[in-house]
Amino acid sequence: MKNRNGGSPVLAIVVPCYNEEPVLSMTVAQLAAVLDNLKLKELISEESFLLFVDDGSKDNTWSLIAQHQASSRHIAGLKLARNAGHQKALWAGLMKAKAFADCVVSIDADLQDDPSIIRDMVIHFHAGCDVVYGVREKRSTDTYFKRQTAESFYKLMVKMGANIVYNHADYRLMSRRALDNLEKYEESNLFIRGLVPMVGLRHATVYYNRAERAAGESKYPLKKMLSFAFDGITSLSVTPIRMVTVTGFIVFLLSIFFGLYALISKLSGHSVSGWASLILSIWFIGGIQLMSIGLIGEYIGKVYIETKRRPRYHIDAEAGLARTEREEAS
Ligand code: UDP
Ligand code: MG
Repeated sequence: MKNRNGGSPVLAIVVPCYNEEPVLSMTVAQLAAVLDNLKLKELISEESFLLFVDDGSKDNTWSLIAQHQASSRHIAGLKLARNAGHQKALWAGLMKAKAFADCVVSIDADLQDDPSIIRDMVIHFHAGCDVVYGVREKRSTDTYFKRQTAESFYKLMVKMGANIVYNHADYRLMSRRALDNLEKYEESNLFIRGLVPMVGLRHATVYYNRAERAAGESKYPLKKMLSFAFDGITSLSVTPIRMVTVTGFIVFLLSIFFGLYALISKLSGHSVSGWASLILSIWFIGGIQLMSIGLIGEYIGKVYIETKRRPRYHIDAEAGLARTEREEAS
């Protein structure tokens, strides 16, 4: 289908990397093996390649990428000028890769996502799918805590009206057509897995078991995970702000009710001597007000950031892409 060179499709595998020195060589080897295998079966073109995006790592990730790139013409590298965050690094890689490829798979550097299912993703692409989601079947290797928080997050997102695929992170295949659609979303506050379902087109799902990180450590400690979840919700849904309004209305109704009650007890001679209830209600309303202001502030902050229209990232260096560029020009 709609391939650049008329033959098998060019596949690019994009891998965002932040301080991934301990695991990188293993990842390169495994993904290169997957590519070779698919080439052998003629499912993808010889021009297919791996694109590693160094998200401003502080360790030797970039020099490792450059080393691997020098030894294989199927490896390319993109170095961001500073740490832009997983989502932006991934975006940089996807948008760069789509200029050279017919379909692009995004995968984390730590081999938690089973690379062997890339084959099934490519087969779905051949069958005409523009988006193929990698969905975790079991989370048995995640800690109980991570499993529970992640489950609640997905449930909450769906409740809030955000259209996200359950148990799907950023392991997916997208056709160039789907990426062209994705590129039109211009917000700087990126939550890619919430945007992909919006591009529409034909999609499929491939299931896999999530493994443990092959080496190195998670770049998502609890604090970052919470802020990611909060970002996800506030960038895709206005339900929380609506809840503030509804809560405000309920509290208002309650206060009328309490006022009437106080009036009646006053008239009937039982004057209210409740200091505690007074304090309690002040704290209650105060808490709700503060929370609401905070929540509204979150949205205003987002509007503020979006109106500045700042660039999402800057590119510092590229390696190995020029070859494909030449091919594209010819
Ligand atoms: N990552 C990135 N920039 C960051 C943080 C993470 O590019 O600022 C990459 C990281 O190298 C990995 C992927 O994003 O390839 C997912 O990170 P990680 O595996 O640490 O997250 P977890 O699986 O623990 O949620
Ligand atoms: Mg991981």
